[in-house]
Amino acid sequence: MAETAIPHSQPWIAQDELQAVADVLRSGRLAQGPCADRFERGLAAFIGRRGGVAVTSGTVALELALRALQIGPGDEVILPSYVCAAPWLAIQHVGAQARLVDIDPDTFNIDPQHVRKAVTGKTRAIIVPHLFGLPADLTELQAIGVPLIEDCAQTLGALERGRQAGSVGTLTVCSFYATKLLCTGEGGMVLSDDEALLERVRALRRYDEDPSLDPTASNYKMTDLQAAIGLCQLHRLPTFLSRRRDIAAAYDRALIGRRGVLPQVPAGRTHVYYRFVIRLAETSPSDEVVPAFIARLERAGVHCRRPVFRPLHGYLKMDGYPNSELVYQCAVSIPLYPSLTDEAVAHILTVLREELG
Ligand SMILES: *Cc1c(COP(=O)(O)O)cnc(C)c1O
Repeated sequence: MAETAIPHSQPWIAQDELQAVADVLRSGRLAQGPCADRFERGLAAFIGRRGGVAVTSGTVALELALRALQIGPGDEVILPSYVCAAPWLAIQHVGAQARLVDIDPDTFNIDPQHVRKAVTGKTRAIIVPHLFGLPADLTELQAIGVPLIEDCAQTLGALERGRQAGSVGTLTVCSFYATKLLCTGEGGMVLSDDEALLERVRALRRYDEDPSLDPTASNYKMTDLQAAIGLCQLHRLPTFLSRRRDIAAAYDRALIGRRGVLPQVPAGRTHVYYRFVIRLAETSPSDEVVPAFIARLERAGVHCRRPVFRPLHGYLKMDGYPNSELVYQCAVSIPLYPSLTDEAVAHILTVLREELG
């Protein structure tokens, strides 16, 4: 048993962030201001988009992306069944119809073949989460010809055929929740190359100074305290990502050939390992396999998690999503974050080698 358990995730906050927050506090300008502007420009440049609009959360960013496309009642939006509830909730908030589709069990991402079958005359957008750090098949999804909303809450800095995840869709959303690749506590952003769409998002994020008094507008502004943290994190993001890749490579080397399926990276894509998700080898998957594995690792001082708490078809009691169901029953996320020490990595591997034979 380890002295102190290794958490499943942990932000990396350094002296920079402490200083930056103190500077904002001393400036007397605490709400949205110059730091938010710089954070928007900085992240847009990193992803390769013309602009960004910083908001209070990733969930709000998804909702505002849908509203910017003027999606509402009578419209359909496609999304994968294997994802957290946020994209589904955003679709409910705008009053559109959510159409769930199954995933590719090897990449955990939305399967373009299933998307094609789900498109109808009412389909107005596809929400494309790039899950766990691996971009979805943007090339195939783009070929469908429906606007894509890329959900980059879990993937920044990864490539699909040489293109940055987040640089392809009509709109892109990010989350800066405490566990994400780049964190501000809570926060989100909508990015795009289309200035008219960005301007619509800006108008929805404030309640005043808009001649039309749009009833769907509200107060969704990010504070400069958060944006100051975001700027520091963005500056260190390349370091974070390279440490993540190194840890993932160590896990891969140590675990290859053992029981369980390691993260797959299809040709033409790169992975930034927001999560290191393994599929336990199970001849008879059930709802009990993953909790039992997690409990054994916890006793050994390693906190693992189900990477998606419950797939949407599970919440909604819908059948017909066999790949999502299989992945839900087998997938476990192993701790992987840049502040993880070499000693912690070694301990995790010792425990995993015992578990995976
Ligand atoms: C975290 C997350 C969200 C929601 O972001 P919040 O900032 O927590 O609201 C949306 N989509 C995905 C894929 C996420 O991982």
